[in-house]
Amino acid sequence: MAKRDDIIQLLNGWLEPEKFKDYCPNGLQVEGCGDVHRIVTGVTASQAFLDQAVAAGADMVLVHHGYFWRGEDPRILGIRRRRLATLFAHELNLAAYHLPLDAHPVMGNNIQLAHVLDFREAKPAGEAGESGLLWTGTLESPLSPEALAERIGERLNRMPLHVGGGAAEIRTLAWCTGAAQGFIEQAVGLGVDAYISGEISEPTVHSARECGIHYYAAGHHATERYGVQALGAKLQEALDIEHLFIDVPNPV
Ligand SMILES: [Zn+2]
Repeated sequence: MAKRDDIIQLLNGWLEPEKFKDYCPNGLQVEGCGDVHRIVTGVTASQAFLDQAVAAGADMVLVHHGYFWRGEDPRILGIRRRRLATLFAHELNLAAYHLPLDAHPVMGNNIQLAHVLDFREAKPAGEAGESGLLWTGTLESPLSPEALAERIGERLNRMPLHVGGGAAEIRTLAWCTGAAQGFIEQAVGLGVDAYISGEISEPTVHSARECGIHYYAAGHHATERYGVQALGAKLQEALDIEHLFIDVPNPV
């Protein structure tokens, strides 16, 4: 068992949310019980995730996508009421880390994705790299664009959408997990053969084609499963708590 406040203090120390200008509060978002035995991690604090976490006996849920996003209607209506009611009914703590969890050099979504996809020499790069959001790396040996798509599909259990083109063989890459298609031109500026992110927008296709870069939309959810798992494992190592990751599949 560990104290809720000690867990949050530890997480804040590791992830340093004060260094980020984010679109949501990072850290404890909804207060539940003071003593925590079991932490369930997940990508998004959706209703389905909360229901499974409750069934698994969680005292705290720790996610990448929590609540209270900037610009959102702040009223407690509809799905928001039901989600909060679930948390309150079970005295469940909700902790969420957004950009600090993308960026962390060891447990972050970007570095963890590099491990999953076997990208080498991973390091933050460029303007967005200063905040840990855009990363570059290399492949251990060059891959055809199709072979890279296959590797991503196998390892993430979801086939990516591949658009654009350019190099006949891919050696260098840039990536940012989640809804980071907007960094494509920064990736072009780095001179890499391919850029990988989660989501795609209509203009991303034209940027990829006209800039001559391979773009892979590998899934917002699929690219962001790994940071929170690394964080949960680290907590279990540091404290006397149990950790369990629950994946609620999402095709986007
Ligand atoms: Zn995200």
